[in-house]
Amino acid sequence: MDLDTLNIAGPTITTLTAPFWDAASRGRLCIQHCEECGKAVFYPRPICPHCWSRRLVWRDASGKGRLKSFSLVYKPGHAGWVPAAPYLVGLVELAEGPTMLSFILTGARAPEVGDPLLLAPTQIGGRVLPAFKIDPNQRRNTR
Ligand SMILES: [Zn+2]
Repeated sequence: MDLDTLNIAGPTITTLTAPFWDAASRGRLCIQHCEECGKAVFYPRPICPHCWSRRLVWRDASGKGRLKSFSLVYKPGHAGWVPAAPYLVGLVELAEGPTMLSFILTGARAPEVGDPLLLAPTQIGGRVLPAFKIDPNQRRNTR
C-alpha cells in the first residue's frame, strides 16, 4: 500500500502549531522546550504545562522514542484511511519525555510495548508526516 495515495484530510495548522508542521514537511520532528524549567513539551502550547512559563522555544527532537502502547486499526474513523487498514498507531514516549500519538510503520516483526522507535518521516496522503519505525539496532525496554 502506497500511503502517499491516501485521500485524507491534512492537519489543521494554526499559528501555534505551524513550526511543528513546517519542520514535519522537511522530515524533522520539532517540539517545544521550556527555557524556564528545561522540560520538553508536546503537544504545542502557549504555556509550559510544568511551570506555567511562556518562554517556550522550538528545537529538533532526537527522533528516538519507545513504544508505550499501540493499536492495530481495522476500522478507520475516516474513510480515506480504509485502503491502508489494518495499520498501526502508537503512543510514542519521546526520549525528551513527552508522549505523542503517531503512525507506526510495520516491519518484519510484530510490535511490542517497550520497542525502541526511530523517527521515520513518511509521505502520507500527499504530505510528509512524522511517523516512527521500530529501531532494529536497539533492544526492547520493559520498564
Ligand atoms: Zn517550564
